[in-house]
This record gives sequence, C-alpha cells and structure tokens, in this order.
Amino acid sequence: MAKFPEAAARLHKNIFVCRKCKTKMRANIQKIMLKKVSCRKCQGKAFRPIKKGK
Ligand SMILES: [Zn+2]
Repeated sequence: MAKFPEAAARLHKNIFVCRKCKTKMRANIQKIMLKKVSCRKCQGKAFRPIKKGK
C-alpha cells in the first residue's frame, strides 16, 4: 500500500510533536519538511508526526 505524506498529514490533521519537549504543533507538512517551523517552546526544528502514543 502506497503512503503519501500529504495523505498521512491529512489523517493526522497536520499535527506534529516536538522531539525535544513533546509540544504538539499544528503545521503544514511541507513547512515541517523544509524546516520552516520551530517549536514555540524550545525553538527546536525536529518534529515527528503524531502517530505514536495512541
Ligand atoms: Zn520543543
């Protein structure tokens, strides 16, 4: 089964979690991939999709 980032993003409502402080951020996946998004708490730029921890 093919997976597309855009589809995954839609499924998870464009929410990402900061790898450092676990803050949830809503952002466009394109911006995440281009590292144009920084965490509002720690200014980190490493995010993961909110898949885990369900
Ligand atoms: Zn953070």
